[in-house]
Amino acid sequence: MVLKLEGKRFGRLTVIGRAAEKDKTGRCWLWECLCDCGNTCLVPGNWLTHGKKRSCGCLQKENRENDVTGQRFGHLTAVRPTEKTVRKGIVWVWRCDCGNLVEATIDAIKSGGRRSCGCRNLAIKKRQAVEMQAGCGRQDGTALSLLKSNIVYTHNTSGYRGVSWHRTLQKWTARINFRGKTYNLGYYDSAEEASAAYQRAKKEMHEKYIMEQEIKNDDNSN
Ligand SMILES: [Zn+2]
Ligand SMILES: [Zn+2]
Repeated sequence: MVLKLEGKRFGRLTVIGRAAEKDKTGRCWLWECLCDCGNTCLVPGNWLTHGKKRSCGCLQKENRENDVTGQRFGHLTAVRPTEKTVRKGIVWVWRCDCGNLVEATIDAIKSGGRRSCGCRNLAIKKRQAVEMQAGCGRQDGTALSLLKSNIVYTHNTSGYRGVSWHRTLQKWTARINFRGKTYNLGYYDSAEEASAAYQRAKKEMHEKYIMEQEIKNDDNSN
């Protein structure tokens, strides 16, 4: 059987034409190939057709030098190199945490800031939209974005969030705002104690609330 391989591409190799010699076994013709890297090489025809050789050797060399198999960047884990090469190197297959497979060069992942198949961008945008909605419209009178922050407001006298000095009682008092209402959490001798009361209440009330909201928002979007 005479193979017709001229002009065909196998991986990085383009077949120039059949050489005058056969391989070591004397059974298979050698074909001269031009590799994408510029090298030429002689390859037995059946190696080409069986996918045994797909470059002059430069592909394996690059893979060896730059093997990222199993390495994780953000939500993407390197699965295997493809046979595709672009200017910035070998294109790899990456598995996203969500299960999607994407193709990109190592360079694009490392320096391009690509950290997922795209699903994370959506998730982040969704979260921002939820917070914006909560911040502007206020759901049930409580702004999610305010709840989540631990910013100490400048008019606060204690340096602790939710804690202020009660001048008449000469005590520290903790208050928490929740769903449009202010709850008094008691009076304390030290700002630290008042802050601890605030943090306890915050944990109980707000985290439960945020969880409920997020579950609700997830349900709404499905
Ligand atoms: Zn090559
Ligand atoms: Zn994904």
